[in-house]
Amino acid sequence: MRKPIIAGNWKMNYGPTEAEEFVAVILPGLHEIHDVERVLCPPAVSLTTVHSAIDGSEVKLGAQNMYYEPKGAYTGEISPAMLRGLCEYVILGHSERRGYFGETDALVNKKVRAALDFNLKPIVCVGERLEQREAGETEQVITTQVQGSLGGLPLNRAAEVVVAYEPIWAIGAGKAAHAHDALVVVRLIRSLLEQMYNADVAQAVRIQYGGSVTVANIAEFLSQPEIDGALVGGASLKPEFVDIVRATAEAKGHAL
Ligand code: PEP
Repeated sequence: MRKPIIAGNWKMNYGPTEAEEFVAVILPGLHEIHDVERVLCPPAVSLTTVHSAIDGSEVKLGAQNMYYEPKGAYTGEISPAMLRGLCEYVILGHSERRGYFGETDALVNKKVRAALDFNLKPIVCVGERLEQREAGETEQVITTQVQGSLGGLPLNRAAEVVVAYEPIWAIGAGKAAHAHDALVVVRLIRSLLEQMYNADVAQAVRIQYGGSVTVANIAEFLSQPEIDGALVGGASLKPEFVDIVRATAEAKGHAL
């Protein structure tokens, strides 16, 4: 059984003061929901504040990015050694990092390996651009990204990775993908993981959908047994995030 996972990617929003205020608003609601892993991913500058705010709760903390070296002369970067003990998760290869900051599959792969080395669970994002989908290239793009970003991991650690399928054209667009289209790609990712590792790994890895998830559409995705959660951007900045987690518990048939 894969435990559903909803992660909120706050992106470049909520510095420490706002983060503390927002967590105070959502934490009581998040407390009441079980059987769904709830992860908050604030910007780096707010990680310690949120860490303290959620201390003693089941809510988990994730970073939005990291470099692969443990320390050194890498101005502006954060290392896996710094995140260890603070975070349980780290988002890697988000399309905004790939698009605006030139991250390649090879770089993401180094980061994924480093995260696992430091006992962080990577949430690795893959997804196609609109013109790639329209050109019928989705399968090829996703295959290249999954093989390039997730290749060569230790067999006994590969199942700790979470994959987020995020069609780039649906991110922040206000219009999500159709659940069926997402399901086709989620199945492709699972079959690639089976080829790259084995059936046990492929069945254990959790695969999320991301892209304009709201409380109004989450059930469409999460009622599919093969979709294990969501990576939520805009809606994770609002109290609606609690409703998304609650709807996930309901869609997965967990008692509240
Ligand atoms: C994201 O950036 O990971 C994301 C899914 O954003 P949004 O929910 O705002 O589309």
